[in-house]
Amino acid sequence: MSEHSKVPSVEASELAKKLSESGLRLTSQREHVFHVLRAQTDHPTADEVYLRTKAEMPEISMATVYNTLDALVRCGLVKQVNVDRAATRFCCNMEDHCHFYCEECGWVHDIELSGGIRDFPIRMPRDLSARQLDISIRGACRNPGDCNRKSAGSS
Ligand SMILES: [Zn+2]
Ligand SMILES: [Zn+2]
Repeated sequence: MSEHSKVPSVEASELAKKLSESGLRLTSQREHVFHVLRAQTDHPTADEVYLRTKAEMPEISMATVYNTLDALVRCGLVKQVNVDRAATRFCCNMEDHCHFYCEECGWVHDIELSGGIRDFPIRMPRDLSARQLDISIRGACRNPGDCNRKSAGSS
């Protein structure tokens, strides 16, 4: 495993506050799903989150995990990332950033932006108000050691 990029820490109290703003209680399951998401910054799919969550909380259901992911997205604690037509992935880095999608191994890397959404060289019409920047770049890992190539493709 290479270095993990840092994710600003969110206290359980902050999690509880955000959930309650959306009329939800902090449950041990919701806290656990959130913890699992933040443990690795690899943009897991809902299925992957479920498997990781289940490893420590075997009684949790897939529906609970899916509903919790939904709730975390609505609360603004987690972002949905769609690259390709593949399954939605989840990202808990709430800073504005781009996603780099490796076409070889499918890994999604966070790419820092030098500046915020307002510094981005786009002409935002005055009557539109930007809330989130969602840019994805496609390419491949440069270092073969970092790239877990899925399978020898049949091209
Ligand atoms: Zn991300
Ligand atoms: Zn790769």
